[in-house]
This record gives sequence, structure tokens and C-alpha cells, in this order.
Amino acid sequence: MFLKGKSAVITGSTSGIGLAYAKALAAEGASVLINGFGDAAAIEKERAALEATSGAKALYDAADMTKPDQIAAMIQRCHDELGGPHIIINNAGIQHVAPIEEFPVEKYDAIIAINQSSAWHMIRAAVPFMKAQKWGRIISTASAHSLVASPNKSAYVMAKHAIAGLTKTIALEVATHGVTVNCVSPGYVWTPLVENQIPDTMKARGLTREQVINDVLLDAQPTKQFVTSEQVAALVLFLCRDEAAQITGANYSIDGGWTAA
Ligand code: NAD
Repeated sequence: MFLKGKSAVITGSTSGIGLAYAKALAAEGASVLINGFGDAAAIEKERAALEATSGAKALYDAADMTKPDQIAAMIQRCHDELGGPHIIINNAGIQHVAPIEEFPVEKYDAIIAINQSSAWHMIRAAVPFMKAQKWGRIISTASAHSLVASPNKSAYVMAKHAIAGLTKTIALEVATHGVTVNCVSPGYVWTPLVENQIPDTMKARGLTREQVINDVLLDAQPTKQFVTSEQVAALVLFLCRDEAAQITGANYSIDGGWTAA
């Protein structure tokens, strides 16, 4: 339990990759603050389970990642109720796929706010606490799209490239304060969100389940396998260790070989 006594704020952790982060950190004894949208009863069940796993307090905060004041209040709440924050993970994200000339401006604004600007606001609010305690881990879920592009994802690719740049910049700013700043870049991750798309895609394209997985979803991934949320969480957990103290400003690919091609 190497994270006993440490607190972690994880944005977008009511499902998918973020929830896997929360579970992995709680299993090492961290008190976690989870965030995101969803069914209140389901969120409370997850929060209670995290508390049971860690033996430390777990909180839920409904801060909307498009609202800088709510982000700052969430960081302050972590400090007041859990201490720290020692670890922050910028993970909340949405996607919209459309050619640029048809891309709705409100979708562009939402992607930039949630996937990009929220990370800047989170870091801005957390750094003073991390500097004061001389220890911190700032981690963001970027994407293979922080390194390469795909058509029709202009806002998402822009935001993820920005996360890679922000990571490097803040790493330099806090390098002498015991605070590391890194991002992880998954390829296609097997989340319920992805799984739920398969039946619709089968119907729309007249393909079998296997064809959807291999010829549509995994076309970019040489291993022809999904990354799992647990694999991404294991990488993030390593970045929280003291052994990772000299890893900073890095962008770790975990994409089945996508960006090697
Ligand atoms: P998900 O939809 O399962 O989770 C997204 C989370 O963000 C949810 O908890 C949701 O409630 C939350 N969220 C959305 N809008 C929010 C807002 N305004 N304020 C607060 N929370 C908000 O998706 P996921 O696949 O787990 O994605 C998590 C992160 O991983 C995202 O940043 C995504 O870009 C990135 N990523 C995902 C994949 C993939 O294939 N699934 C690949 C690479 C990177």
C-alpha cells in the first residue's frame, strides 16, 4: 500500500479509464476524490467500494470540467477533506467526429474546455499545494491522438496535442519541487463506451462483430487487441511511485504499436 496517506483527484472517474485509475490508486491505500457524471446511486456504490478497498476516505465531487471555478473548488475541497492533493489525474474527456466544415462550434468549444482547458485549470489550482508539500504527481490521459492525427477529429486531436505540450511545460516549471508531470497516450481502450458501439456499427455497416473489431476499431492497432483500462491504470500507478521520481515531461504510449507504424 505505497499510497497510504496520499490523496488523489481524478477527473472523469465515474466510468471507463478514470474509474480504473481510482480503483488502482485506492488498492494502494490512497484516498480518492472521484468526479464525473452519471447515475447518483451507481456513483455512490463506486465511492463506497473505493473506501472499502483503500481503508481511507473516498469523495465524489460533481465539478463540471467546463467550469474553472468548480475545478478550483474541487481541488480546495480535496485539500480540506483529504489533504494534498498529492496526485491529480486529468482524465475527463469527450469525443465528436465530423469533417471541419460540419463540426458544430458548440462541440468544438466543449471538447477544448473538457479535454484541454480543464487540465490547465486543475494544474493551476493544485501546484501551490504540491510545491508546499514538496511532492506531487500530475498525470493526464492524453491519447495516441497526442502524437498522430485521424481525419474528422480536429478538436480532439488539437486538445490531445495540447495536453502533450502542457505536460512538458509544467514539468519544467515544477522540476525542482518534487513534482513530476507526465501523460499517458492510449490507443483504443476497451471501455463500456466502445463496447456499446459495436452492435450499432455491425448493423450500420452490415459487418460481423469480428469485422467491426478488427477492420474498423482496431485498424490502427498492429497488435489487433484493445488496450484495457487496467493496463493504462497500471502504467499510471507506476508513475506515482517514488521510483518514478526522475520520469517527468514524458508522454507514454500504450497503443498496441499504433504510433510505431
Ligand atoms: P468515458 O466516457 O468512459 O469516461 C469519460 C468520463 O468523463 C466520464 O466519467 C464522464 O462522466 C466524464 N465527463 C465528461 N464530461 C465531463 C465534464 N464536463 N465534467 C466532468 N466530467 C466529465 O471515456 P473513457 O474512454 O474512459 O475516456 C477517458 C479519457 O481517456 C478521455 O480523456 C479520453 O479522451 C481518453 N482516451 C480514451 C480512449 C479510448 O479508446 N476509450 C483512448 C485514448 C484516450
